[in-house]
Amino acid sequence: MSFQVPPPSSCAIILSYQCSSRCRHCINASSPSWVEWASRRDIDRQFEALAAHSQYLSHLYISGGEPMLKPALTAYAVHRALELDLPLEYVETNAFWCWDEERALEGFIRLKEAGLKKVAISISPFHAEFVPLPHTEIAMDAAQEVFGTNNVILNTAEYFQELFAMEVEDTLELEHYIENKGAEEAALSFASEYELIPNGRAAVALADLFNRQPASAYFGEACEKELSNPYQVRMDHEGNYIPGLCAGIVLGSTHDLSALFAKRDWSDRPLINTLAKGGVEALLAWAKSHYDYQEDVMGYTSKCHLCLDIRRHLVRSGVVLKELKPLPFYDELDPESFIDIH
Ligand code: SF4
Repeated sequence: MSFQVPPPSSCAIILSYQCSSRCRHCINASSPSWVEWASRRDIDRQFEALAAHSQYLSHLYISGGEPMLKPALTAYAVHRALELDLPLEYVETNAFWCWDEERALEGFIRLKEAGLKKVAISISPFHAEFVPLPHTEIAMDAAQEVFGTNNVILNTAEYFQELFAMEVEDTLELEHYIENKGAEEAALSFASEYELIPNGRAAVALADLFNRQPASAYFGEACEKELSNPYQVRMDHEGNYIPGLCAGIVLGSTHDLSALFAKRDWSDRPLINTLAKGGVEALLAWAKSHYDYQEDVMGYTSKCHLCLDIRRHLVRSGVVLKELKPLPFYDELDPESFIDIH
């Protein structure tokens, strides 16, 4: 099947998937276990390639993993992006490192001196499991002092207010938050207000919060649109180009964007070819007939949950495909710390 991937309209730069936290909603399945980071050379190469294909790019941000685990490298990435006139908007941090005001100011000043105009601070019941709420407060105050009140995005302010009202003084277990709010209301808030993407660790770890349906409920829809969507794509430190919804599926290499954005035939990428043509219905049939995949009798919360479950099975079965990457992403979907609300 042929289809074309257009250049991105918005893009997250992932310098590493390494993070101080192992949040249960994380689409990238970031955690402390990841160790690889982009080098300065990788950043130069990737940004130069992106600059040559930035005609539709209006929104670029540095995300993770946690970029402030390596503040000097992150400052370098900020500097290079701006030097190349890329529309870098902000760096997104979980604020774990803001345990005192001096340190927080120092980190934000470093980014500002590299040219950054705005930061985003992540806070939610998922982040609050790992980052003490006082760190978020310190980060907010320091970031506002450095960048100005209007240049600090709190993602989300509503969750911060809610956790603050709960008088959270340290971290808070997700189960405790859910118990307090009610499972149904928490699920509704994650899905609607937080726009939780049912892929990555969220698909597996939070599955019990949402209604499950048999695989057949998700038949009849091809995935070409999602795979070729230029919105919120990710470019990671390994040079993987990943569509916004489809964590764990690599469309091509960021080192050769011209080849990636050319109209091409995808028959050399069987997983992408199958999904683009026939969606999860075709993927399920393929995985059943070639790789002995068994449907989960508990069902799935979305088509992406089903897709991910099949891909996990392929990886566990030793299937090697160019588009099935990064492999540690699949290892990170370990069900050990998954939600227990029963
Ligand atoms: S089902 Fe798979 S290919 Fe389709 S949108 Fe979801 S993750 Fe992407």
